[in-house]
Amino acid sequence: MSPTITEVDVYDIRFPTSEQLDGSDAMNPDPDYSAAYVMLRTDSPGGLAGYGLCFTIGRGNDVVAAAIATLRPYVVGRSVDSVTGDLGAFYRLLTHDSQLRWLGPEKGVMHMAAGAVVNAAWDLAARQAGLPVWELLAGMSPEQLVDMVDFRYLSDALTRDEALEILRRAEPGRAARAAELRRHGYPAYTTEPGWIGYSDDKLTRLSKEAVAAGFRQIKLKVGGDLDDDLRRMRLARDAVGPDIRIAVDANQRWDVADAVGWMRALAPFDPYWIEEPTSPDDVLAHAAIRAGQPVPVATGEHVANRVVFKQLLQAGAVDFVQIDAARVAGVNENIAILLLAAKFGVPVCPHAGGVGLCELVQHLSMFDYVAVSGSWDDRVIEYVPHLHEHFTDPVVMDHGRYRAPAAPGFSARIVPESLADYRYPDGPVWQARQELTR
Ligand SMILES: [Mg+2]
Repeated sequence: MSPTITEVDVYDIRFPTSEQLDGSDAMNPDPDYSAAYVMLRTDSPGGLAGYGLCFTIGRGNDVVAAAIATLRPYVVGRSVDSVTGDLGAFYRLLTHDSQLRWLGPEKGVMHMAAGAVVNAAWDLAARQAGLPVWELLAGMSPEQLVDMVDFRYLSDALTRDEALEILRRAEPGRAARAAELRRHGYPAYTTEPGWIGYSDDKLTRLSKEAVAAGFRQIKLKVGGDLDDDLRRMRLARDAVGPDIRIAVDANQRWDVADAVGWMRALAPFDPYWIEEPTSPDDVLAHAAIRAGQPVPVATGEHVANRVVFKQLLQAGAVDFVQIDAARVAGVNENIAILLLAAKFGVPVCPHAGGVGLCELVQHLSMFDYVAVSGSWDDRVIEYVPHLHEHFTDPVVMDHGRYRAPAAPGFSARIVPESLADYRYPDGPVWQARQELTR
């Protein structure tokens, strides 16, 4: 008999990363990397459970946690098999609650909360199957995969039949590419040198260290002050040489004219892409920025859902699609976005600057390589070095590449000690800080 999901535990976990300016950029000067963390507990005698999270940067993590808790009635009391046996139906159930949907629709806090629970259900399914999520996905038939997708609002750009065709085209090469992945891992780039709060010396040192560690691409945060950006870009280019790619990221800082002017000024240093130049909702502005200056445009970490990704692709507004594992409604919606990107022939380079995002999103890129786009040309997953020690199955970097995970699940389980220590506001890490300010 299938075990039952007995409880949805929700945790507000925060890490005081702002103290070292890790993660700092032009719009987010002092992030405390945080997770609204979900555990789907079951009555399975083996202790089977599913783990997922939403990433935030501190304040508001409690709001996401509260949103997750509103989904409890859809989960508690259900048999595990009824959830993991039809993850497409489960995803649609959570995203189409007729009253909660009013808070979006399909965007913002409620959508992120649904994503955390959907991802926890995928983790549960993968643990049950004894497979990492990327292998669980890569073992599904094209028909099973399209059943995971909600094609509502997509069919003017991608029909179910077209999606099937993309997946069938990739089917014959699946086994060879999976073997390739296990041998060589998946290419990555690092944002470690480029946080805007880091000194010039730290930027130079970390840029050199990134190349020595095997990375072929780094990323710098820009958009604070043009003279600073010109100086930092020159330092980074001198440190890494002409053959290493340097992407830049403005974190939504600019209007169209600012973005065009700023990127024309930085263009002599050969930036690989300009990421989030402006509002993530503004499809036409991205198209204008792409047309107005020579550097390719990337966005996606704050793109609310598959519909906006569809428009960005239809409008020819982006050169790189940056999926995020925990912004949209989980694995299911990301399958749709991967299929859209494949249809338009645009490479997917995931966002992973946060806590747990590297762990989660590696599975989606690996699935894309094996079963969707079938390619890793021009594709890289972001890597940041922070906070991996808090996970039971942390990412493993090997010469600038993500090693393919072998452990069952979605890699986002946090170790129990960290759950206790970093719980906000009553865990000892935060209690100690309150003592200091009292
Ligand atoms: Mg970014």
